[in-house]
Amino acid sequence: MKKKVVIIGSGPAGYTAAIYAARAHLEPLLYEGFLSGVAGGQLMTTTDVENYPGFPKGITGPDLMTAFREQAKRFGTVVLGEDVEKVDFSTHPFKIYGKKTSVDTESVIIATGATAKRLDIKGTADGELWQKGVTACAVCDGAMPIFRDKELFVIGGGDTAMEEALFLTKYASKVYVVHRRDQLRASKIMADQALKHSKIEVLWDSAVTAVEGKESVESVVIKNLKTEKTEKRAAGGVFFAIGHTPNTAFLKGQIALEESGYIRLKAGDKTSSTATSVEGVFAAGDVYDHKYRQAVTAAGSGCMAALDAERWLAARHG
Ligand SMILES: Cc1cc2nc3c(=O)[nH]c(=O)nc-3n(C[C@H](O)[C@H](O)[C@H](O)COP(=O)(O)OP(=O)(O)OC[C@H]3O[C@@H](n4cnc5c(N)ncnc54)[C@H](O)[C@@H]3O)c2cc1C
Repeated sequence: MKKKVVIIGSGPAGYTAAIYAARAHLEPLLYEGFLSGVAGGQLMTTTDVENYPGFPKGITGPDLMTAFREQAKRFGTVVLGEDVEKVDFSTHPFKIYGKKTSVDTESVIIATGATAKRLDIKGTADGELWQKGVTACAVCDGAMPIFRDKELFVIGGGDTAMEEALFLTKYASKVYVVHRRDQLRASKIMADQALKHSKIEVLWDSAVTAVEGKESVESVVIKNLKTEKTEKRAAGGVFFAIGHTPNTAFLKGQIALEESGYIRLKAGDKTSSTATSVEGVFAAGDVYDHKYRQAVTAAGSGCMAALDAERWLAARHG
């Protein structure tokens, strides 16, 4: 099978790229993933999405992603429920290997996203209090009424944790940053900003060992790792802020990646193009963007990647 464009990933970036590529008659093939994560991407793991434009009353993450998928299919995108296990960008057409399929393609859009890291803390798993006050995205969920005027706990000690804690001060009565060590890993400027904020307090040398509540988070158990003492504190929410892992393991050696594993765009930070280090391979969404990490920005870059691929193919074929 030979395609003009193969899209890898089925979050807002991948489906938006598919909508644009299909409408440009590029007949895209989209690998939506299987074991790599949830087909539909990170929004499948959340309840209400309140900040995606066009839905004044909000929409659930799964409903939004079902609509994205239907729209991509309506224009002729072929969706395969498989992971891409390997790619070969050293030859052209490029080779894409799924578990059961292999495809030759002239261009590729990589939209495999990133996975928010979570810790194995009692009470925080799916089916327990995950998405009932436990989350991994303050910017996405912080404004929800359940967090208003409550004591919130941010787990982490890096820049992400400082950013999330500062963001949450708009809504919380108090924000505790729970950090395993006696000093922060965050950059000095971020750490200073957080430490001098009147609503933020760092619980040093500490870990959350359990999150409790009936319908939503009501309390957390904090353990001081030096004294081994534990205490229960009232809580309205718990935010994991320990970073993300970009889903790029299958790309190693094929394309330029940042040290952290994110795809490095050819234009670097000046993201006026989604081109990567390999001509004809484009990237969209959280797989390269560790700065904005929102559904709307991922969708926007999916659109850009499809337009970039279309123009690249047109220039090649004259
Ligand atoms: C709990 C939570 C709540 C959030 N809430 C909001 C919100 O309210 N508003 C908002 O704007 N943003 C929210 N976000 C952020 C938002 O979900 C992401 O910014 C967005 O989903 C990124 O889209 P993406 O398409 O780049 O990647 P993703 O959504 O991560 O999708 C990537 C897709 O690629 C697939 N994939 C990975 N590897 C492979 C492979 N090898 N082969 C094939 N497929 C593969 C995965 O299965 C996945 O389907 C939230 C995130 C989390 C974790």
